[in-house]
Amino acid sequence: MYEHNIMPPGTQARIICEWPDINVSDTVSVIAYDPLQGYLVRTNTELEEHWLPQQILANCSRKPWSFRFRKHGRRSVDATNYQDNIMTDITCPEFSEKIKDVSIYCGSKAIFKCRVKPCGRNLHVSWRKTEPDPCVMRNSGRFIINQNDEGETLLVINNARNSDSGTYLCTISNEIGSAECSASLVVVEASSPLPEPKIQVLSCSSVLLEWESDSYKQFLVEFCKLGTGEWLSPNNNLPLNSQSYTVEHLIPGETYSFRIIALPNKIISLPSLALTLPVADNLRWQQEQFKRRYIELEEIDRGRYAIVRKAQDRGTGNEVALKQVSRRKQSHKVTQAEYTLLAGIQHYNIIHAMALFDNAPVPGIDTIVLELVKGPLLFTYISQNDAYIEADVCEYSKQLMSALSWLHGRDLAHLDVKPENVMVDLGHSSPILKLVDFGDCVNTCKNVILPPACLEFASPELVLGQQVGKHTDYWAVGVFLYVLLSGVSPFLDDSLEETTANILKCDFCFPDDYFCNISSEAKSLIKKLLIVTPSQRISMNECIDSPWLKSVPRANIIPSSRLRTFQQRRHRLNPTTPTTPTGINYFST
Ligand code: ADP
Ligand code: MG
Repeated sequence: MYEHNIMPPGTQARIICEWPDINVSDTVSVIAYDPLQGYLVRTNTELEEHWLPQQILANCSRKPWSFRFRKHGRRSVDATNYQDNIMTDITCPEFSEKIKDVSIYCGSKAIFKCRVKPCGRNLHVSWRKTEPDPCVMRNSGRFIINQNDEGETLLVINNARNSDSGTYLCTISNEIGSAECSASLVVVEASSPLPEPKIQVLSCSSVLLEWESDSYKQFLVEFCKLGTGEWLSPNNNLPLNSQSYTVEHLIPGETYSFRIIALPNKIISLPSLALTLPVADNLRWQQEQFKRRYIELEEIDRGRYAIVRKAQDRGTGNEVALKQVSRRKQSHKVTQAEYTLLAGIQHYNIIHAMALFDNAPVPGIDTIVLELVKGPLLFTYISQNDAYIEADVCEYSKQLMSALSWLHGRDLAHLDVKPENVMVDLGHSSPILKLVDFGDCVNTCKNVILPPACLEFASPELVLGQQVGKHTDYWAVGVFLYVLLSGVSPFLDDSLEETTANILKCDFCFPDDYFCNISSEAKSLIKKLLIVTPSQRISMNECIDSPWLKSVPRANIIPSSRLRTFQQRRHRLNPTTPTTPTGINYFST
């Protein structure tokens, strides 16, 4: 006779825990019982016999209701009280929360969590990895399996590795039955993140998203309306094989963020900066105002982000420059900051801004209306004849230093001093240097770290990603002077690595071939600007007071050919930039 609770032969039993070669929740027929070996069972599908431990089997011949007992005076089922329920009801497990797909970087922690509705005590939980290499998960080393009395279970994978990627299955069972749920884990190398998408406003209800990725081929797009916290797909999660997508039917005036998900690993990009769509009326109003006010004329030049066009103000009849910046390349916030700064600056050698039009002339383009510089870049101007003299360089350097000194005095640093951003206005009795492009200009009171806009003029702190400031402009002025006096570049080398190394070592000299005619005062000043330690570089005011700029003007002749070659090389680096802006003949008068 079998003792109480031991299942007699012929009993139908259910597997309630993982066991090699047997599936959880399979039913088996009991053949025999042995106190040491457990049950000898036959699987109902394969008709094979196995010895299985007693604790992994549950009798499923018994009717479920035979287990029920009721406490007098209490409701048998109280959905809000789990403890009550597990005391009173034993039902087939059913998930109230299933495990969800997880995507993490190598080395971080993956957590799968699920919970079943109250279904009685003695729940058995098992975790298995089903793909790509099936195995049973055990509580050891990096893997922690946890379970509480409230039907919640966790699988935690610490210090995740690529090889942990796969599908995980959680099975929760009791005497009555079992429930399963599965989800995938994707562990990716931290080195292949997905950049956030760039956004271009196409209309008050649509935006163009563009992103770049060599590592992934298929993508999903999602957007989130500010305040909802909910990421939605604009196209029913249809995978995209391209790297751009137009999101339509957005609400004008609402603020959105967008993100990209790379398939198949579901790598999620950072969310884009929040973008407020224009309200239809405002958008049209700005465009109409713009068209009513300006007659667009020829393109003058292109920079890193902008196209600058000449235009005529219908109201005043004056010519202006329109700096048109695509929101894809420079955020509206940066353009707005550039405008605010230039509108507030009153310095003879700094370009002045008169107006800003958002999303005009077309959606996605912002236009800063600038004072027109009627002349070319300084380098182009100074090298127009066969030669120039050191005194010319002194004169323009003084003006550049004066502009920067004015900025520095107001805790601003330009941070992009280079030949393409220094122009000469020939519309006056004598040429006036004009500093343009304040897209990188920052307040030096803040701790600012920027990538170098142009390596050739970049200081060691810019290259190293350290805090930048006024001293960053001092270095750039040192390089600017060096080039202006010699036509060659102090640090430029055959490769980016070599150039970077030269900058970091401050490895430059004054070769006789280029500097034999140049005054020692000029070289001495350059040496005081090109110093690795930022605090040791001399300020713009000190430069203006230096012997080189105070002494009698020097007539040393500098041939223009080298500076012209320098300009042509820079133009090749940035082929959109004409060496002499198109359509304008500055030197004819
Ligand atoms: P980016 O920020 O894209 O580099 P910039 O402000 O430097 O744009 O302008 C691009 C080019 O347009 C400059 O290199 C210069 O040749 C020309 N430019 C800029 N501002 C003016 C202006 N106010 N008047 C005439 N030309 C200008
Ligand atoms: Mg520029």
